[in-house]
Amino acid sequence: MNHILHLRSLISGQTFRPDEVDYVDPAYGPDGVLDVVYDYDAVGHDISRESLRRNGDTSIWRYKPLLPVEPDAEVPPLQIGWTPLYATPRLAADLGLRRLWVKDDGRNPTASFKDRASAIAVVKGRERGAEIITTASTGNAAAALSGICASMGQANVIFVPEKAPQAKVAQLLAYGATVMLVRGSYDDAFELCLQAADAYGWYNRNTGFNPYMTEGKKTASLEICEQLNWDAPDRIFVSVGDGCIIGGLHKGLKDMMALGWIEKMPRLMGVQAAGSNYLAEAWERNEDVLTKPPIDAQTVADSISAGLPRDRLKAMAAVKETGGAYITVSDDEILAAIPALARGSGVFAEPAGAAAYAGLIKAVDRGMVSADERVVVLNTGSGLKDVAGAMKGVELAGTQPHRVDANLDDLRRVMGMVWRPGF
Ligand SMILES: *Cc1c(COP(=O)(O)O)cnc(C)c1O
Repeated sequence: MNHILHLRSLISGQTFRPDEVDYVDPAYGPDGVLDVVYDYDAVGHDISRESLRRNGDTSIWRYKPLLPVEPDAEVPPLQIGWTPLYATPRLAADLGLRRLWVKDDGRNPTASFKDRASAIAVVKGRERGAEIITTASTGNAAAALSGICASMGQANVIFVPEKAPQAKVAQLLAYGATVMLVRGSYDDAFELCLQAADAYGWYNRNTGFNPYMTEGKKTASLEICEQLNWDAPDRIFVSVGDGCIIGGLHKGLKDMMALGWIEKMPRLMGVQAAGSNYLAEAWERNEDVLTKPPIDAQTVADSISAGLPRDRLKAMAAVKETGGAYITVSDDEILAAIPALARGSGVFAEPAGAAAYAGLIKAVDRGMVSADERVVVLNTGSGLKDVAGAMKGVELAGTQPHRVDANLDDLRRVMGMVWRPGF
């Protein structure tokens, strides 16, 4: 048995048995997001900081008793999670901070953070005997779902906006997914996927709709704290689109507080693109996200482009309840952060990943972070996901390759110009 006590509606507080509802509070439809509530006494029986020290599993499944899956569930063979947390002293010094870490989730099997959630979706879908698992996605959630499905021979149907970056579509096709390029936005793809899953009886991974996605995503905060030897950081910077990642980080932190694994709650710092700032605006203006209408989202960081963030209730709570903040960054600041992060740490991020670092730069500029705080920046996706975005970033940084004839004399001429005369 897993240790789920019940599913609790974020709107009404009503609770449901996991076999009563699959996704949302039926009274509220897709807005009726559910939280998975655990029996922490039972969890604490099966897992502890000491048992983790002895656990050689270097994947999200090291936290299985804290996940919504059965102990004997068949899990994907791909290694998901337990991504590196790098100390980055040069970046820290540049920003006037003493301690800064970058967690690189581009290192997951399909090269984004989304593998953490999709892994749970595939296990839950198979638990229900689903013939097909489906999702709508800006790209990464789909790549994660189709890659993990491929590792288990599971059929899947994917809905992405037709403008999704080529690398992400290439992944889907290579993994053998049935791919629907939807003529419209991510929000249109989301609606169509909901209708399709309902009409065909497919298992639906959709973010903010499937309550178990938060549970997969929370493994990142479990890892951050374990990797810091249970001395939780002061702040975690993460980019936000639908809000599932930031909600998931919050959930993991609340789990650890409840289990007595950490002593203080880090502040969650949500970073949004200025052109996709639904949550930042709602936070600044103290608006009710259940009645705030969708915005027209436009940003170069496709993974955080969301006109109506599907996990907005959890995303707002994550920042409010931890004393964090929302910050917005422009597309140019996001693109410039790609080479800045790569040069200072060796971590190559896609625009949405670099946005978190751009947010830290801005927060430091505004005096929101003090020098002695311990800060973690989460890179959510690999730079190889969006090569066009990376090229724009290096152009902004003024970096260009050098043209050279294939002989040493010409190389000497060029090195003399770019390195130092006479080199
Ligand atoms: C999905 C995604 C995000 C944002 O996650 P949300 O849960 O939508 O807020 C950020 N970065 C990358 C690379 C992503 O794929």
